[in-house]
Amino acid sequence: MDILKILSRGTKKSAAQNVPAAAKPTTKKVANPQLYNDPTRGTKRKRIEQPLPEQATSDADEDVDFFAPKDLNKVTSKEEAGDHQGPSSQSTAKQEPQAPALLDNDEVRQILKSHRLKFTLLSSHEEERAAKVKKSKKKQKTAVPAKSKDTKRSLYPQPLTSFTELRSTYNVSARVCSNLAKQGFRLPTEVQLASLPLLLDPSRALRSSADDLDYNNGIDFLAVAPTGSGKTLTFLIPSINDVLRRRAEGATQQEGPIAIIIAPTRELAHQIANEGKKLAQGTGVKIVGMKKGMVIPADGSKTDDEEMATQEDKSDGEDGSSGSEDEADSGDERTPKQQTTTKADILVTTPMMLLNFLTKGSISRKLPSVRSLILDEADVLLDPLFRNQTMGIWNACSSPSLRVTLWSATMGANIESLVADQLKPRTTAPLVRLVVGLKDTAVPSIKHKLIYTATEQGKLFALRQLLHPNSSSSSTVPDMRLPFLIFAQTIDRATALHNELQYDIPVEAGGSTRIAALHSSMSESARAAVITRFRAGEIWVLITTDLLMRGIDFHGVNGVINYDVPTSAAAYVHRVGRTGRAGHGGCVAVTLYTTEDVAHLKTIANVISLSEKQASAAATTTGDAKSSASEIDTAVPKWLMDALPKVGKDSKKKLRERGVESRRSRPGGGGGGGGGGAARITSKSAWERRKEHNRRGAIEGSKNRKKQAAAEAEAGGGEAGGGGGGGGGDEWGGLDD
Ligand code: ADP
Ligand code: MG
Repeated sequence: MDILKILSRGTKKSAAQNVPAAAKPTTKKVANPQLYNDPTRGTKRKRIEQPLPEQATSDADEDVDFFAPKDLNKVTSKEEAGDHQGPSSQSTAKQEPQAPALLDNDEVRQILKSHRLKFTLLSSHEEERAAKVKKSKKKQKTAVPAKSKDTKRSLYPQPLTSFTELRSTYNVSARVCSNLAKQGFRLPTEVQLASLPLLLDPSRALRSSADDLDYNNGIDFLAVAPTGSGKTLTFLIPSINDVLRRRAEGATQQEGPIAIIIAPTRELAHQIANEGKKLAQGTGVKIVGMKKGMVIPADGSKTDDEEMATQEDKSDGEDGSSGSEDEADSGDERTPKQQTTTKADILVTTPMMLLNFLTKGSISRKLPSVRSLILDEADVLLDPLFRNQTMGIWNACSSPSLRVTLWSATMGANIESLVADQLKPRTTAPLVRLVVGLKDTAVPSIKHKLIYTATEQGKLFALRQLLHPNSSSSSTVPDMRLPFLIFAQTIDRATALHNELQYDIPVEAGGSTRIAALHSSMSESARAAVITRFRAGEIWVLITTDLLMRGIDFHGVNGVINYDVPTSAAAYVHRVGRTGRAGHGGCVAVTLYTTEDVAHLKTIANVISLSEKQASAAATTTGDAKSSASEIDTAVPKWLMDALPKVGKDSKKKLRERGVESRRSRPGGGGGGGGGGAARITSKSAWERRKEHNRRGAIEGSKNRKKQAAAEAEAGGGEAGGGGGGGGGDEWGGLDD
């Protein structure tokens, strides 16, 4: 049944009856969440058609054949057998597995290549020190420094051949493994199979291929992996395991979190905390989402905490955003009237939220208990917008054995060097980078479409065609399946577009309740409510800003519409990455552009083109039914690419920082609601369709809400941090290319 028919103007009642069920986002898990598997890559020799050993197949899909180790029964070293602890009462590894074997180097290389995984050693302090010694001895010939700069060493760590190995080889808690299995995860995604061994046991993962590195105190890690590829689990599993391991080793309950996870928006932090709680269920590991006014154990703050908590309690209501439904976030609500110190093993926070706590009352607090700092969406956290806040937290983590991991789908070279520089004086641990697939591209499962609409009015027209496919006779508009997300450049434009479209959905299909806006000038509780309704399938069209472009995982989103062209390549990758997650197929990303956008469009066209090439390569090599090569008719034909002007560095930067000038809100913040100003979105036809006074009422209401929210946001100060750079309506841009 076609849900879209419901939305066409000539809706029949009978069809409308089926709406709610049909509109529910897809909930079923995809069979294969892996994006790349080309066994022919990296094979010099014939592929070995040997079946998987029982241990590896028992939990994996029958159709999976990408790991074909030559001889898994071969035990490479005695002490490895000793490493292994037999499975406890859990069923995850029923039959006693053979002693875990290391794959030989050829096999490792082949597996990593077939999944397009590339590990690079970004800094090895040993090497640096050696280089310095050499230099000081006397200047060597010129070739030496040039070489050490350009040729970064590749690494080939052991991959995770199946989730069962977590238990059998890496000794991950049986409970965590069963929680994982309960959620239906059967096959590790690329980032999981590549990173988990390295993070759980670097000495094992690197033993056979990089024995010279000093990995005994762990590694610092930077992972660049596609949107929706399961990075969250990849950093959560080692974090939870680490807490449990410490406990098992008899560590006394520490005062303060062992791990801190930073994410740029509250929505994302909340989502990560929820994922963590599901995974840690029954383990006793406490995962807490940081909230305003929360007090956590920190060095030197003990005596001030009580007083501080009272002060913050008062200020909490200032922006009206401390929604009560969010209370479920914390595991510590049983405290009576005064807030006391919240115990957390793993704390998930936005940068501002934690930094506020660390610096409140002009005291500089330290977090000596933290052993692991995790930056999700690391490139945005280290972008100038958040950099000081993130660094403030990083510097407060005073433990000499702090390990840092950074995660994103996009990572500029400037971010990498920033991280390396920051780590250099603090640690001797190696910094390793993983790149999955082609860096800074969209996932291969997405079909891209660029639509030229000439004018702003044209965009509305095109959008209505996407919303009402039956009203369109044109084949230039792709089929969009609900639910989908629409991205606008500013808060004002998102609000205005919402006002414009809210009556477009027929009453019998749910009317205006099916469409909603979400942006950072809404209160926290309103934001949370919209997300809940969207996840539940009650909202079909969600209009938003770049607030939602990072990390948010909506299972069944079938499409993304860039109503306004994203202001950077990274923004494109992240926005469209809200769809096509975990191998979800049949997803479409449409970008509407006007004459005004042509000057900047090449940046986006390049990303699309690269992503399509990658998808086409992946499809031809794997014979993947999801997107066969013939299906991929390019969104950027050669004539278009050739016609688009080059975009200079300066204009890229300007666009990233300010967006398209004419779409910016008027100074003073009053231009919202489509009520005038350059940023307005309105159409005559829509005006005529509705009674004018109704519309005006809606517009006025939204204006007032907007004004109020803007004032609140201003008063809140740090709120922009929580809101992902939503301040002033201009959202964060992206990749420094
Ligand atoms: P990322 O952070 O890489 O953008 P997420 O961690 O948000 O991606 O994961 C995207 C989705 O994929 C989530 O809904 C998650 O539950 C799901 N997922 C993660 N790992 C797997 C797996 N191994 N198999 C199937 N689905 C997975
Ligand atoms: Mg993520």
